Amino acid sequence: MSQTVKGVISRSKGAPTELVDVVVPDPGPNDVVVDIQACGVCHTDLAYKEGGINDEYPFLLGHEAAGIVEAIGSDVTHVEVGDFVVLNWRAVCGECRACKRGKPWYCFDTHNASKSMTLTDGTELTAALGIGAFIEKTLVHEGQCTKVNPETDPAVAGLLGCGVMAGLGAAMNTGNVGRGDSVAVIGCGGVGDAAIAGARLAGATKIIAIDRDPAKLQWATELGATHTINGAEVDDVVTAVQDLTDGFGVDVVVDAVGRPETWKEAFYARDLAGTVVLVGVPTPEMKLEMPLVDFFSRGGSLKSSWYGDCLPERDFPMLIDLYEQGRLPLDKFVTERVGLGDVEAAFEAMKGGKVLRSVVELKS
Ligand SMILES: [Zn+2]
Ligand SMILES: [Zn+2]
Repeated sequence: MSQTVKGVISRSKGAPTELVDVVVPDPGPNDVVVDIQACGVCHTDLAYKEGGINDEYPFLLGHEAAGIVEAIGSDVTHVEVGDFVVLNWRAVCGECRACKRGKPWYCFDTHNASKSMTLTDGTELTAALGIGAFIEKTLVHEGQCTKVNPETDPAVAGLLGCGVMAGLGAAMNTGNVGRGDSVAVIGCGGVGDAAIAGARLAGATKIIAIDRDPAKLQWATELGATHTINGAEVDDVVTAVQDLTDGFGVDVVVDAVGRPETWKEAFYARDLAGTVVLVGVPTPEMKLEMPLVDFFSRGGSLKSSWYGDCLPERDFPMLIDLYEQGRLPLDKFVTERVGLGDVEAAFEAMKGGKVLRSVVELKS
């Protein structure tokens, strides 16, 4: 039986979000209905609302979520009713050319639910990142559910579903940060601060946080930065990084902003043969112009990080365990807890740079 629940939609470009009735269909053979307990508010949700992703309105927003499996399709074997799960937006297929070559974190054919959720008049909703979790219950593919320690605060666990995982993985997986490395992170919002936490977890001994907002540099320090650079107070970020590293630059730079100017800073702030990781998402009109010889003569590795190159089944339970053991302060990313009707206010707080994450909590 389908069920009707409350969910937050974006009906048209730029219009305020609305809390409306949404119909959640019965799960298809490999689908799962998840009773959402908490869902973080991410920049990507705002980008959907503002038309920055595509124009497939109306959108069902929300995607950084944790909840309890309420119902499963006839062929589901991956989870059971009652499991506590974190949702992910890259359910790997196991069949595509990336999966077959043993690199499933690049999977080119990820799975989503087989049916759409709809408005009560039958209008199909486009679920944000194939999830849609500012809603009491959502429908996803079984592979989008990763079982984790059920003792964990859902507001904390859900954040692994997107931005925090992207940042942690940018440092740990894509950047391959190791013991004794020096790391710089440009942009200290949720993703950048997670990269800082990831660099610390991986054993980096010098972690330089770069931002223009003192409040964000304070968060960065709490999450593991050993040094900070306020970009508004120095003539040149690259020189400032070199000054902190005997004139050489760092081993790994993570660009969590994703603009041509920040990427150039990342490129030149690293040591010879160092690594640049781009995890901030540029917009289509951005262009980069640089001397090609610099790419050759400086050597090293220039990488992009999709979702932190994570494998949810490998990474989510491990990171939750590290959190529960007090070795990864994931709870510091939760700045405020709000209700399902507060998404619009949370977007404003995000735009004002006042929060690392607002998390919508759903009381069942
Ligand atoms: Zn695949
Ligand atoms: Zn996100």
